[in-house]
Amino acid sequence: MLKIRKSYKVRLKTNNNIENKLDQYCGSARFVWNKCLAMNLERLEKRQPILWYNELAFWLTLWKRSEEYGFLEESPSQVLQQKLRDLDRAFRDCFDKTQPLKRLPVFKKKGKGDSIRFPQGLKTVGRRIFLPKIGWIGFYKSRSISGKVKNITISKKGERWFASIQVEQMIEIGKHASDSEIGIDAGIKCFAAFSDRTLVEGVNSFRKHEDALSREQRKLSRKRRGSENWKKQKRKISKLHHTIANVRSDFLHKLSTDISKNHAKVYVEGLQVRNMSASAKGTIEEPGRSVKAKSGLNKSILDQGWFEFRRQLDYKLFWRGGMMVEVNPRHTSQRCSSCGHTAKENRVSQDVFRCQVCGHEENADVNAAKNILTVGQTGMIACQANRISGRQQEPAGTREEVLLVAS
Ligand SMILES: [Zn+2]
Repeated sequence: MLKIRKSYKVRLKTNNNIENKLDQYCGSARFVWNKCLAMNLERLEKRQPILWYNELAFWLTLWKRSEEYGFLEESPSQVLQQKLRDLDRAFRDCFDKTQPLKRLPVFKKKGKGDSIRFPQGLKTVGRRIFLPKIGWIGFYKSRSISGKVKNITISKKGERWFASIQVEQMIEIGKHASDSEIGIDAGIKCFAAFSDRTLVEGVNSFRKHEDALSREQRKLSRKRRGSENWKKQKRKISKLHHTIANVRSDFLHKLSTDISKNHAKVYVEGLQVRNMSASAKGTIEEPGRSVKAKSGLNKSILDQGWFEFRRQLDYKLFWRGGMMVEVNPRHTSQRCSSCGHTAKENRVSQDVFRCQVCGHEENADVNAAKNILTVGQTGMIACQANRISGRQQEPAGTREEVLLVAS
């Protein structure tokens, strides 16, 4: 038996009273985040050590007693403390060499990703959740919620409120139902190519929504800022962003679920993000300066949701008794999957592979996927996945992560 964490996202049935309270708590949490962030950025500038959670929590208690910031007293303490923990984590991640894509935390703006997390005093019964200082709130239920509630994150998207309920469950990990093995490559033109020649269309399927989005954004630019029509258009755009994020999220979840059911071992290329961006990181004393350039370099991979896809594939396979294995990506795009001849001339164009020795011709991504499978099966494994703890968790708010990529 293995203890895992899973999260359910539901839409809340709020009324004015609840919305006012949630807005107030989000506002206070944002205030605390921004104030502490400003303090730390100033300290970095002056080359003083960063204030971590304990010091920040001490500042918070002082603010609550002051006249100026006494309004913080009205929000649940645990909610504000959780924000400080998030900030603490954001600073630690930012200087963590194993997470090269993490950047310095940024100031939060009202209405952009408003969220608060309740870590204690929670209950769920049927279609209702209980939050401290607020009470019972109903929600629209799509799946049944099982397991012990660990925390609840409340977030606002446009005018709607959502709860991400994280629960702890015990699952049994047996042997995978299948013994199939497959290699998968991130495609150039498609989302992914499999060693069994399957090509998975990706981003193109979102084109339709994205075209609509840019059309609506052009309309917005023609309206008077702050007018009723402008606000209406703004809401329309926010809804569209939400739709795109959901379409992406559903696509990634469906694909990773299918693959994890059908194959016991999945070989993928070890992404050497570390090398791509090592110099951009800096240290706690001296944060990197070329962070922007770095994120541009990896943008195409991020856009495709490839990281999120791999993350999902990793934990879903693990839960089913399967395994995702990272292989050394060297030469996988130049090697002939038929005779083994390796030369960059084999890559005739971006999507066509033609071996200069044996004449083998194939979609370049499929050829690479076949090589990935071979490399994996013959044991030239670069870095076997080893983040057991990571696989036990399905982080809350998967959809928010996807939304960030979409917007
Ligand atoms: Zn060949």
